[in-house]
Amino acid sequence: MSSLGVGKEVLSFCGKCKLTLAHIIITMKAGDTINKVQCKTCNATHVYKDPSKVKAKKVSTRTRTVSKKANSQESISDLWLTAVGNAKTKSKDYSPKATFLKGDIVDHPKFGPGVIDKIIDGNKIEVIFRHSIKTLVHNM
Ligand SMILES: [Zn+2]
Repeated sequence: MSSLGVGKEVLSFCGKCKLTLAHIIITMKAGDTINKVQCKTCNATHVYKDPSKVKAKKVSTRTRTVSKKANSQESISDLWLTAVGNAKTKSKDYSPKATFLKGDIVDHPKFGPGVIDKIIDGNKIEVIFRHSIKTLVHNM
């Protein structure tokens, strides 16, 4: 495959635009290796950056972020299971007018059962739900 050459269009990562864009090949190295390219969007001339290599880096970052999220999700579930297991009171339906105490079980119409973890400023509660921790109002 020798379709690459000076003046040909190629996809390269542009460091200025921070995107993979169409570039024009300015100079070639020996063989079929691209040396310099010019960005068709910002007209900057720079060394060719293989977009597949740039992408590979991005993907690995994303994978790490996802697994980190999954871990914290798991620990919230564990926290919730422990908190619900330790609770001694009956669950109360959530209402901003109701008053809750630390350790109370609340039944939220949207988030499901949760456990009051903290009382904040007298009229806010931090609640551990199955999938997330939410700050809600109470004692209004
Ligand atoms: Zn550019």
